[in-house]
Amino acid sequence: MAPAQNPITSKHVAVIGAGAAGIITSRELRREGHSVVVYEREKQVGGLWVYTPKSDSDPLSLDPTRSKVHSSIYESLRTNVPRESMGVRDFPFLPRFDDESRDPRRYPNHREVLAYIQDFAREFKIEEMIRFETEVVRVEPVDGKWRVQSKKSGGFLKDEIYDAVVVCNGHYTEPNITHIPGIKSWPGKQIHSHNYRVPDPFENEVVVVIGNFASGADISRDIAKVAKEVHIASRAKEPHTYEKISVPQNNLWMHSEIDTAHDDGSIVFKNGKVVFADSIVYCTGYKYNFPFLETNGYLRIDEKRVEPLYKHVFPPALAPGLSFVGVPAMGIVFVMFEIQSKWVSAVLSGRVTLPSPEKMIEDINAWYASLDALGIPKRHTHTIGRIQVSSVISLTSFKKTYLSQSEYLNWVAEECGCELVERWRGQEVDGGYLRLVAHPETYRDEWDDDELIEEAYKDFSKKKLISFDPTYYIENGK
Ligand code: FAD
Repeated sequence: MAPAQNPITSKHVAVIGAGAAGIITSRELRREGHSVVVYEREKQVGGLWVYTPKSDSDPLSLDPTRSKVHSSIYESLRTNVPRESMGVRDFPFLPRFDDESRDPRRYPNHREVLAYIQDFAREFKIEEMIRFETEVVRVEPVDGKWRVQSKKSGGFLKDEIYDAVVVCNGHYTEPNITHIPGIKSWPGKQIHSHNYRVPDPFENEVVVVIGNFASGADISRDIAKVAKEVHIASRAKEPHTYEKISVPQNNLWMHSEIDTAHDDGSIVFKNGKVVFADSIVYCTGYKYNFPFLETNGYLRIDEKRVEPLYKHVFPPALAPGLSFVGVPAMGIVFVMFEIQSKWVSAVLSGRVTLPSPEKMIEDINAWYASLDALGIPKRHTHTIGRIQVSSVISLTSFKKTYLSQSEYLNWVAEECGCELVERWRGQEVDGGYLRLVAHPETYRDEWDDDELIEEAYKDFSKKKLISFDPTYYIENGK
């Protein structure tokens, strides 16, 4: 840990967003003694996990004048991380066997995650810091402080000055659409997974789903329940790939990427196969977007790289007044929010110091160079974890050592002097991703890591975070 240079001071801090990142961050900031205002444009906490059957008015979300919906959750969604690993460390995501409205499964549905986030907000009295239905429209540095301009729904613009701003606005709302040669004249329907909710609109259709990671694997199987045929296009597959995937409806195929689309409705894959499709569903990820940030061009987004960001959190020349919680894409998400926001809180209070801006830039450039040396594309700058990167690029071709999730989180944890990530958590999440890639249809219900579940609940028991014997959870959770 870098030694404190200054006495501990309390700062006036604005947090943008009351999703999981925002509520976890505001708790850490307040624990460190800061005064906190959280801006949230919706009516409730939960962000992404507030499911709505509504979606953007433009199914591809390209029209800048479209009406927008924040959530990207589909009706059938269950978590892709086991609950023991998903929860915040001192407030575990425990199954509630006593309440029938709750989903006690190890990989529960999205309603259970929202209920957990609401429990967290209630337990730590987070709502008293939140201004709901208030959108931040502009954030800019002014004389060493930060001006935050916000708009209450139906109200006037309001300017306020803060010592610091922590950005927690989420990054799963602005779709990334892969370009397909010939798509302009292709006559079918197109939708991004951000706007996918239920399979019904695809009944009896031939559907092409682009992308085969967490959402693509789920959505293709969801649609296969009602469609005539579903064809997955995967960039991670070898060009000759053409495989039948086993599903009860016998109507799902895996291809390599799409080569071209044509005005007769055909889609040609790189494996040479031709499919006449009614719809394309893009499960091609999201873009970072900070429309309210005015940094005079200092902070840029280039191919999904937010630059420059020291350890994915601090922009050197604007730190520590401006920071970001939640930028990296990884499996241990809520604990990442917790550890990153502990670091931000400690730096703001002066308990921990950052290196000089020049040193931080040097570190960032070294990180970019290490990605280049490994042949990792720029768009994966914030993808942390060997397992996750290997499944995104190619399961077999990526064997080189790469920063693991635990290594990154433990670096930050050591920097601010907090507890390191438990061994079982890293192993559960890495093992879960391998199961997801190998068995996307069963990984949430069949597993081989009972010993890690046991270790997790024993750990909770040791830390007095559960009131029952750990075996109660292990036996009832199966
Ligand atoms: P969000 O939840 O998106 O919250 C951001 C908040 O900021 C929102 O409430 C929004 O209204 C508010 N906001 C944005 N802009 C403004 C503004 N200008 N002014 C005021 N308020 C604003 N993670 C897991 O751990 N487990 C999973 O199983 C899992 N599954 C996922 C499945 C899908 C389909 C996706 C897309 C992601 C999944 N994730 C999962 C990752 C997910 O990103 C995190 O779980 C987490 O919920 C993100 O929290 P966040 O606070 O960063 O963003």
